[in-house]
Amino acid sequence: MPKAQPSVFILCEACRWCATYTDKSRAGDRCATCSGSVLSSFPIMPDEAFTFSYDEKRGVELDFFRRASPKA
Ligand SMILES: [Zn+2]
Repeated sequence: MPKAQPSVFILCEACRWCATYTDKSRAGDRCATCSGSVLSSFPIMPDEAFTFSYDEKRGVELDFFRRASPKA
């Protein structure tokens, strides 16, 4: 079985649209909502999880944490 690819989290800087793709090649380089081209992307490892929050003053906050392994 091939090594799992990291998922990628895409965030549009213009409208805050965001999405997670398991295959980066599917993400494209345009926002699906506003067609903006300023997208931030963050790789997400298969054993990582994160919380996303947006605040008008503080901007976008991403908190990454390691997922508990089911085999641990
Ligand atoms: Zn957008």
